[in-house]
Amino acid sequence: MANFKQRALFEIKRRKLTAERAADEISAKAEKDPAYSALNGECIALGFKIARLGAYNQDTSNLKAELEKKKAARDSRLAELGYKPDDLLPHYTCKLCGDTGSVNGEDCKCLKELIYSELREGARGVITDKDSFDDSMLEAIPADLRPAYAKAYAILAKYAADFPDNKISIIGLCGPVGCGKSFAAGVLANAVMRRGYSVLFINAVQLNNLFLRCHRAPINEKEEILSPLADADLVIVDDLGAEPYLNNVTSNYLYNLISSDPDARFVITTNLDFDDIRARYGDRVTSRLADKERSRFYLLKGKDLRVRSVSARVKY
Ligand SMILES: [Zn+2]
Repeated sequence: MANFKQRALFEIKRRKLTAERAADEISAKAEKDPAYSALNGECIALGFKIARLGAYNQDTSNLKAELEKKKAARDSRLAELGYKPDDLLPHYTCKLCGDTGSVNGEDCKCLKELIYSELREGARGVITDKDSFDDSMLEAIPADLRPAYAKAYAILAKYAADFPDNKISIIGLCGPVGCGKSFAAGVLANAVMRRGYSVLFINAVQLNNLFLRCHRAPINEKEEILSPLADADLVIVDDLGAEPYLNNVTSNYLYNLISSDPDARFVITTNLDFDDIRARYGDRVTSRLADKERSRFYLLKGKDLRVRSVSARVKY
């Protein structure tokens, strides 16, 4: 996360400098005009005088009227030069923070937005732009199934809101093709990125290829190959089981991935049930995924959302 924030802050600083440089350039051009420069100097001197006299509670109304006249003369000279008074001020991209990235000590919306777009760049596999589990997601679901989907979405929304302080480190979304599990995982990914955390959204085929590359690589290159998995705050493995099974690779690497770091967070979508998972990946992977202290699997039943029920938990 730190890198993303640093990059975003760097970009905001660049915007600030660009805006200020543009304003400074126009000021400098205007100042080269002797008439403008003289009038502007008089305005500044008058302004100081008014402030000084005002501090001693003296009447400054005549001076203020004079200042207004001078300003009008200065601005009309500026107009003759082809500029507006507004051109001399920096035009910040973000009006809220003036391109500083913070408002009252809090990160500005523009900074959060930039971090989010940086994070989105790094998570290209996400199939949706939706970034929250709102009620509109339920519109595509038949009315009688909505309560069950609403419950599943609420669990995922809470997972995103709590991230990364979740007690559960692995969330599984099971169900057949078309039940909406990849979509739900995508919304979860965006919701987590909205909170400023990085997500690697990778399908199981790509993941398996990464494992294979690592397996074949010289020992000093292995860590680098797997670094995208280690660097992401959340890894989403989409469609586990769609990858070709490679002996000595698929199960071993998968087990290491989901077991080596207790703080690592995963979301797995799969068409497989736990019997399939055991048959395919063996006992070690299965017991890790079925460990109720650390994993929760949710079943989105049915095809193409014409589901009959969504049970909150799959019983294994
Ligand atoms: Zn801002």
